[in-house]
Amino acid sequence: MRSASEPKKQRKEKVVYPKLLRELTKLNEELHFFTVINDNISEGAPFSVKDNLCVKGFESRAGSKILKGYLPQFNATPVERMIAKGFGFLGKTTMDEFGFGSFGVNTDIVARNPFDEKCVAGGSSSGAAVATAVMKNHIAIAESTGGSISNPASFCGVVGFTPTYGLISRYGLIDYANSLDKIGIMARESNQIRETFDIIKGKDGYDSTCVDKKLTALKKKKIVVIDQLTNGVSEEIKSTFQVLLARLENQGYAIEHVSFDFIDKAIPAYYIISMAEASTNLAKYDGYKYGMQYGDFTKKYNEFFTNARENFGTEAKRRIVLGTFVRGASVKDKYYTKALKVRTALTNKLSSLMKDAFILSPTMPITAPKIEEARKLSPLQTYAMDSLTIPPNLSGFPHVSFPYAYIKGMPVGAQLITSHFNDYALLDFVSEWEKSFEYQFKHNL
Ligand code: GLN
Repeated sequence: MRSASEPKKQRKEKVVYPKLLRELTKLNEELHFFTVINDNISEGAPFSVKDNLCVKGFESRAGSKILKGYLPQFNATPVERMIAKGFGFLGKTTMDEFGFGSFGVNTDIVARNPFDEKCVAGGSSSGAAVATAVMKNHIAIAESTGGSISNPASFCGVVGFTPTYGLISRYGLIDYANSLDKIGIMARESNQIRETFDIIKGKDGYDSTCVDKKLTALKKKKIVVIDQLTNGVSEEIKSTFQVLLARLENQGYAIEHVSFDFIDKAIPAYYIISMAEASTNLAKYDGYKYGMQYGDFTKKYNEFFTNARENFGTEAKRRIVLGTFVRGASVKDKYYTKALKVRTALTNKLSSLMKDAFILSPTMPITAPKIEEARKLSPLQTYAMDSLTIPPNLSGFPHVSFPYAYIKGMPVGAQLITSHFNDYALLDFVSEWEKSFEYQFKHNL
């Protein structure tokens, strides 16, 4: 095992992909999308791994200071399966601390958007999206709890696929919220995603929530647009989205607008559930068994744990406090239990809307904002940015974000959702779309 900075013990004679590694290292100094680059990569198509998935011997700290120096002794199942198929592990990609964020700014290494370096790359899988947008043949293994794949895929102009909850093992994932976390894939093209998906999905003895289900590819000829989802997006996005709908109508899809007020409750329900789960997951990082080790056992009990947990960032601390509050015995029915009921009601309604239709919306209400603007947003303003990506995530529905337009040079994505286990239909849809749409990229390493 080694960290990126230690000398390699078993240096290979010949460096594989020397040009790629050289160019990548240089670009990474500008765009900050890898936390660690593996300069001892083996042959085989390169893939990257979001920093919250364990890779044996490579620092895996989920964007957090509290896990600094943690070198896993094992590979997360999706990583293990990629390596077993001969793919080359290229490095770990940057992210918001523990996945807490929508712009990649809640961490020490802030990724920049390859289309405009002053802008964010999205979040929380910021580095994964940048890696995909700058390399020709790249596969990024990422993770989404409430939109972390769709969002950066949309801001960086790549395809981001989040499968039905439970299809890909979470063994080796540094959890955010277990009932919501899903491993997914980003790539420039849907066929690369399909190939990767088939490799990494499927039952795993290490994750009891992981299912082996026969997946369908039911093509639906109807597209439902939920007005409350599209009403809140910027005027520019609204008009490009109208053009997209017109194009799809021309291709034979029936477009149906529906009104569904209750969808507004998705954000509060999601944040209550995700924070409740996150606060329990983060309890173990106490500097004693897990998290940065202090080794100074002369400190008093409170001082020891307080000092250790000072290493969480501001957003992580906020979620620990709020998450602990909402599941407190005296208020839990008012918040946590109610949020679970909202989740069930939303899932049922969305399921019924998708009986014979896909749901489509823009992926994000805006194009990638400037890093400075994103930093100025209040927590509530930031959470509101997830209004379009949270509904499918809360219900574990498979969804895909694909690029469909560019506004002043910045990419815009649309998000297509389908019913549980109809995952292949999404990839079929995007592969059809790709025939008539030309993606643009500024870098082609
Ligand atoms: N922005 C959302 C959050 O902060 C979703 C992030 C994610 O999917 N990891 O919870």
